[in-house]
Amino acid sequence: MNDRDGKVRADKIVSESLSFCRKKSMNATMNKTTQTRIAADSDPQWSLDRTPLDRSATQLTTDSDEHLRRARSYREAIVSAPAPRTIENTLAPYNHMMMHLDAAAAEANLFARVHPDATLRAAAEQSEQTIAQYLTELSLDRHLYEAFRAFEGAELPPDTQWFVEKRLRDFRRSGVDQPEPVRERIRALSDELVRIGQDFSRNTRDDERELAVDSTADLEGLPQDWIDKHRPGADGNIRVTTRTPDYAPIMTYAKSADLRRTLYQLHKDRAHPKNLEVLGQLLGKRHELAKLLGYATWADYVTEDKMIQTASSAAAFIDRVAAIGEKSSRREYDILLARKRKDTPATDCVEDWERGYLEQLVRTEQYAFDAQAARPYFNFADVQRGILDLTGRLFGLTYRQVNGLKLWHKDVTAWDILDGTETIGRFYLDLFPRENKYGHAAQFDYRTGLLDQRLPQAVLVCNFPNPNDAPDGLALMEHNDVVTFFHEFGHLLHHLLAGRQRWIGNSGISTEWDFVEVPSQLLEEWCFDLESLRVFAKHHVTGEPIPADLVANLRRSREFGKGLQASHQMFYAAVALNYYNRDPAGLDTTAMLKELQRRYSAFDYVEGTHFQCSFGHLDGYSAIYYTYMWSLVIVRDVLSEFQRQGMLDPTTARRFRETILEPGGSKKAPELIESFLGRPYRFEAFEAWLNRAV
Ligand SMILES: [Zn+2]
Repeated sequence: MNDRDGKVRADKIVSESLSFCRKKSMNATMNKTTQTRIAADSDPQWSLDRTPLDRSATQLTTDSDEHLRRARSYREAIVSAPAPRTIENTLAPYNHMMMHLDAAAAEANLFARVHPDATLRAAAEQSEQTIAQYLTELSLDRHLYEAFRAFEGAELPPDTQWFVEKRLRDFRRSGVDQPEPVRERIRALSDELVRIGQDFSRNTRDDERELAVDSTADLEGLPQDWIDKHRPGADGNIRVTTRTPDYAPIMTYAKSADLRRTLYQLHKDRAHPKNLEVLGQLLGKRHELAKLLGYATWADYVTEDKMIQTASSAAAFIDRVAAIGEKSSRREYDILLARKRKDTPATDCVEDWERGYLEQLVRTEQYAFDAQAARPYFNFADVQRGILDLTGRLFGLTYRQVNGLKLWHKDVTAWDILDGTETIGRFYLDLFPRENKYGHAAQFDYRTGLLDQRLPQAVLVCNFPNPNDAPDGLALMEHNDVVTFFHEFGHLLHHLLAGRQRWIGNSGISTEWDFVEVPSQLLEEWCFDLESLRVFAKHHVTGEPIPADLVANLRRSREFGKGLQASHQMFYAAVALNYYNRDPAGLDTTAMLKELQRRYSAFDYVEGTHFQCSFGHLDGYSAIYYTYMWSLVIVRDVLSEFQRQGMLDPTTARRFRETILEPGGSKKAPELIESFLGRPYRFEAFEAWLNRAV
């Protein structure tokens, strides 16, 4: 699974608080009314420097209630405004209302998942429910809906037009038109779904499992610095957990097949059996909600406002990718099997838990890429500096560390992002694992920025090796970790650079959801480019830049496995879609998972595992896991432009910043792509890439 992901954002928040926007310069054709700048909210808390990041659980609740109180008073002002409806008496206060809800929802969402204090996490979860409840209420608010309808057919600047259009669409999709008893049921279901989603995610987070390894001999194959950090405890056992910093290296390097199989089974069984029932509720309630809203299934509902538009197009896309990748997938599987037979002659299959290890062997032996040989060039401090240098150079930005803030954990750092001398946003890096912290990698919004109103803020949450654990600050990263860092940083830049729109629903990452993984997956490409890697990848002892042949081998070896990866990703996408494209009454999710794994993945289901119980996307993304691959199709096309002009060409990068990142959700995604490429996007680059043999 694409563990490096998760936008960690409930569907509700996307449609409610992240669907408005702005344009950089005022449009000349704009009429008199719309030329008025939106008056800034007088609320002093939007001042960046006064935003308190760490606080007590009580304070978090107080702040959340205050945001809610202000939001309610803006709502009152909107509905009671005297006719006629204007931007000033309707859309501007709507912006202010959503700014408060955006702030409260983002804080709750973040702190429920990362705060070290359990009391605060619980308060954040409570606040998350309260805010979501109010958002539901607003989405069903007929007075507010009528206020927006007054703008139908009005002459508006394009960004405002699109903002109003999306808002009206979302109102209708929420069921605002339904009779009151139906709206009552929608409200109840939406509230229940928030709690069910929280249970699903908490059960996974709290169920990190561990394994006692008898002796260091069982860890043969693992990197020495990893072994050094895993010394036997008082009982003589070495503790190994299902967390990423243990799981990933063991699945890749451990010679012991027993160790890999056992840890794989533990990992793929997290939150089982608890989440089997929770998942059943999640599917059932969403199905009921979709039916109430007039859709046959939840998958039909959730795809409607995406680029893909329908559940049947999503199914066709999954099958199309599976078909394109089939040849590569088979070829690669046979290579893995042949490699396995060298050690185990009497075998006719490769297990899922052998895949990472065998791929690594093939990469080392046949493509001369040794992931361990690359690690000394990826010391955490160099990589972090490198991301800042490289993205700064590409997109014309600078970064400045901010000291002296009271943050939620001592490992978290704060940074300002500058365009010339102007500060345009702030971000926080929370990059190392700890107890009860969100276990994957994700970008969290902290504030959605608004032109002339407030600066955007974001948080990166990852689980990289911690330099603060070692006296010399050494923390060597896998190249995969480096890729994850770039990926999440792509989301972060998107959120921050799109943070100067006029309408909150157009600002930040508010584009169609299946376009969201374009900036992130594109940024990964710089981790495979020699010239770019040489900016930061230096040997931690000798200072020697990463050798050209190592990077050449890295590039070649990366190509190996893409077919298997594509087919396995389509297995995940098919699971997500098929759980949601039917009435789930009586559905055996494990049986369906087995069946879909057989159909799409090259690897068989491993008995006794229940991956669906910890498949967090089933809550956050529901039916639309296909979005990663959909975005990748677009990435391969966009990338061809960089390949033509040079990966470090500042003009192309600038154009990407201006045509795709900065507009946020102020235009439809196909228009954004077309303004960058000068033509509509196409499948060809993706097909050619997936079919290309190494
Ligand atoms: Zn992502």
